[in-house]
Amino acid sequence: MANNRKSLKNVARPYLGVSSAHKGYIVKISWTSAPVAKITAHKDFTLDVIECEIKKDSIKEIKHISYDVHAGDVIYFAQSDDHAGAYYIARWNGHRFCCTCPSNICRQACHHQEDVAAYALQSSNNRKHMEEEAVSASSDTRMEYLIDQVGAGVFGPAYRVNGGDWRPFLDASGNPVEIEGVSHAEMWLSIVEKSSQVEADLWLETQRTPVAA
Ligand SMILES: [Zn+2]
Repeated sequence: MANNRKSLKNVARPYLGVSSAHKGYIVKISWTSAPVAKITAHKDFTLDVIECEIKKDSIKEIKHISYDVHAGDVIYFAQSDDHAGAYYIARWNGHRFCCTCPSNICRQACHHQEDVAAYALQSSNNRKHMEEEAVSASSDTRMEYLIDQVGAGVFGPAYRVNGGDWRPFLDASGNPVEIEGVSHAEMWLSIVEKSSQVEADLWLETQRTPVAA
């Protein structure tokens, strides 16, 4: 695989081979079924990218390509409309998101770019909202935290300010944070208290297997 190994770092538009109307590049993801997903690499790892012939009713693997992902890289994934679990890779090139679906490989606009851009905007708005809340909480405010059990083995950290209503922490997509295992939830919360939710989220990502091989 050494000859196929390329680096995603500093590559504005991943160019991985000859274009065709049906050729695209996917990764298989089983840890979510969301239309758009995001990872922030906390450490270097290799992404198994699969060159495929993609049609509406079929998907045929052509070859596997190992991509080096570097610590700090942010990668978005957009799920195939027709093939669940197959995700195209979306990367910001400085101007717009590029996508590895067949349409985009053929340099036509695809809706994945807009989906990912909307997701990224929404998540940054949510983050901004939470940061503004945190800043507006002055030094005489009293923060309290708890960990709620929200499912079998699943825990949701929550907070309240000055004895007000308990509110769940929100993740980057605006959904309540849910963490498997109470020890992970406790560790997450302790990182939030000591530093920030961003760092807690990064730590949590290292506890997961981000990409199914
Ligand atoms: Zn696309």
